[in-house]
Amino acid sequence: MSESKDGGDHEDGEVNMAAWILGVKNLSIQPYPLPLLGPNDVKVRIKAVGICGSDVHYYKTMRCANFIADKPMVLGHECAGIIEQVGSEVKSLAVGDRVALEPGISCQRCNFCKNGRYNLCRSMKFFGSASNNGSLANKVVHPAKLCFKLPENVSLEEGAMCEPLSVGIHACRRANIGADTSVSIIGAGTIGLVVLLAARAFGASKIVIADVDDGRLSIAKDLGANEIVQVSTSIQDLEQDVMKIQNAMGCGIDVSFDCVGYNKTMSTALDATCPGGKVCLVGLAQTEMTVPLTLAAVREVDVIGIFRYRDTWPLCIELLRTGKIDIKPLITHRFGFSQKELEQAFETSAQGGNAIKIMFNL
Ligand SMILES: [Zn+2]
Ligand SMILES: [Zn+2]
Repeated sequence: MSESKDGGDHEDGEVNMAAWILGVKNLSIQPYPLPLLGPNDVKVRIKAVGICGSDVHYYKTMRCANFIADKPMVLGHECAGIIEQVGSEVKSLAVGDRVALEPGISCQRCNFCKNGRYNLCRSMKFFGSASNNGSLANKVVHPAKLCFKLPENVSLEEGAMCEPLSVGIHACRRANIGADTSVSIIGAGTIGLVVLLAARAFGASKIVIADVDDGRLSIAKDLGANEIVQVSTSIQDLEQDVMKIQNAMGCGIDVSFDCVGYNKTMSTALDATCPGGKVCLVGLAQTEMTVPLTLAAVREVDVIGIFRYRDTWPLCIELLRTGKIDIKPLITHRFGFSQKELEQAFETSAQGGNAIKIMFNL
């Protein structure tokens, strides 16, 4: 591909390359002509991109929840980079600034957008989702107001981690976590761990985390969980597992986060939570679940849903800058941006194992 739509990304004689998903388990680094740089946009040279569970879903199945990739799409949305060009109206950023990118562009016209709940916008254009191209590319064009300048002491990799961390921040905001909140977290994968880090930063008085895998539990312990509890995947063990979690807490559980999303994990969260408490469903493994909802309802346990996040980047960056959150231990694997490493990175991610966050350095 030699012609470019913007006439800008080739002026330095360089073709912009990106990681395209062409079909199931079929990834290819190919040219990606950038859209025109609008007056309020910036062009960012991408330096760090994390692989998200949703990227892996597209890799394995070409779909994620009800989003279907029906044509080749550039993957990736957890990213940070360096500003290379600014649109004529951009005053807040300059060439050379290091920025973390918020991946979703909302319409700004609908009622959700006007009322500040822009994450619920139905016209959202989100990097690497529903046939919108993502950011696992040398360069992207993005609205300046969705690019957040990183302080000196926050790395580009940490900048890319603002995206998964945002999920934890938004969940803790929705569940109203504060200094007097006792928290249980079901699942110690990436989502469970970012909820743990956010809940700690929000001052949660005690945090118990449960998982089937003792490797993940020991990471959770290192990241500041007060107690860790090994549970099973079998629904037969529900009552016993709930008791283990409640005993580990030693007092009523105000808020439980299900960071997995199976019948068993959601049932555990509902049963473990004390009367008047809250259960926040963060993990979305199953689209439909059978859970003891009535028993939770008569104890006035509120169930809270979350979808992505909103207005989280400034707080994420502040928590990283001040050291209130150290996100670096979540990065377990690093890969470069070549065809071979692209395939290796996604295979590593698809296999699960001991990988938490896999990061590309471009
Ligand atoms: Zn993500
Ligand atoms: Zn909207």
